[in-house]
Amino acid sequence: MKTAVPKVYRNYYRQRTANQWLKVKAEVGDPGAIRPFLAGNWKMNMIPRSGVALAARIFDICKDIKDVDIGLAPPFTGLSTLADYIKPDFLRSEYGLGRNVFLLAQDTFFESKGAFTGEISAEMLAAIGVDRVIIGHSDRRTNLGKYFGFGPSIAKRLSRAFLTQELGHLKAKEGVDPQILAALEHLTAEGNQDILAGMARFLEEEMRERAGESDEAIQKKVQACLTHGVQVVLCCGENREAREAQETFSLLDRQLRIGLEVVSPRTAGEVVIAYEPVWAVGEGASPAKPEQISEVHDFIRNLIMDLYGEQIASTIRILYGGNVKPDNIVEIMNIPGVDGALVGGASLKANDFAQIIRFGLNT
Ligand code: PEP
Repeated sequence: MKTAVPKVYRNYYRQRTANQWLKVKAEVGDPGAIRPFLAGNWKMNMIPRSGVALAARIFDICKDIKDVDIGLAPPFTGLSTLADYIKPDFLRSEYGLGRNVFLLAQDTFFESKGAFTGEISAEMLAAIGVDRVIIGHSDRRTNLGKYFGFGPSIAKRLSRAFLTQELGHLKAKEGVDPQILAALEHLTAEGNQDILAGMARFLEEEMRERAGESDEAIQKKVQACLTHGVQVVLCCGENREAREAQETFSLLDRQLRIGLEVVSPRTAGEVVIAYEPVWAVGEGASPAKPEQISEVHDFIRNLIMDLYGEQIASTIRILYGGNVKPDNIVEIMNIPGVDGALVGGASLKANDFAQIIRFGLNT
């Protein structure tokens, strides 16, 4: 169902362009003014040593930049090494930077400890100096099924032999939902193999395309971070199918309302939102058009106003992500309502990411 675009939020601070931003430099940091935040998501790239070398090259080109916040998100293995390298005192003396460089993790798990092999908790991230965690990235919301092969295991469970065996077990138990028994009877009946095979293929395809983190898991991760004093970069974004079906706003509304349900007005300041249309992310894709970005950022800010009121809506940062490059960053940052960018591919090239950070400077 198409959701009407709400009345655009009247924002005070978003009228400034990149050049205006330079002119109002003195104002940056005042209560209510929004500091741009340019964050690089390295995804599964960079061994720790290469990450430090990349950061050093970026800082070299960005010496003395104080009016933007910079975020670096190495993979888990690079966090500790980078945390040691980007200590504010060192950044201040070496590069004229300081507390405007933030260490980001790319994900976390919502439990704090226990038998969760391979997972990393927000508490652990806080302990090594992680400032913010990217939560709900589209790579995790939708792509996990592709990699982890949930599809074939579902398909296997929809074979006649497996279901017949299950039916036998369930019939031997008490209190089994009769609807389940009736469905299994039907699916395993002679002559219904085609239905079963079709369903198996359909579910396999669905799982491959869509299986990933749920809104509920994302909400728990947000909560875990805030509980342990780690800030959140909450990603949202529609895939191409949703955009074509004109479901962009209803989908974003759902993703954000669920993700933010555990965020109180007191903790809303610890959250940055990143709008990343899935169809615009990654190699080969094109960035969203300025009017598409503008419309969605207004929608999100309006939603924040509904949830938390005008004061928080006028200060929360809403980033755009999806093929941000040195040659489009100025145009993107000029869009009213865009407070920064979450950058994938271009953040792996020191020159490119440095140019993105320096978007407001003319040199
Ligand atoms: C991302 O993965 O968050 C992203 C925005 O990637 P890219 O900049 O490469 O489109």
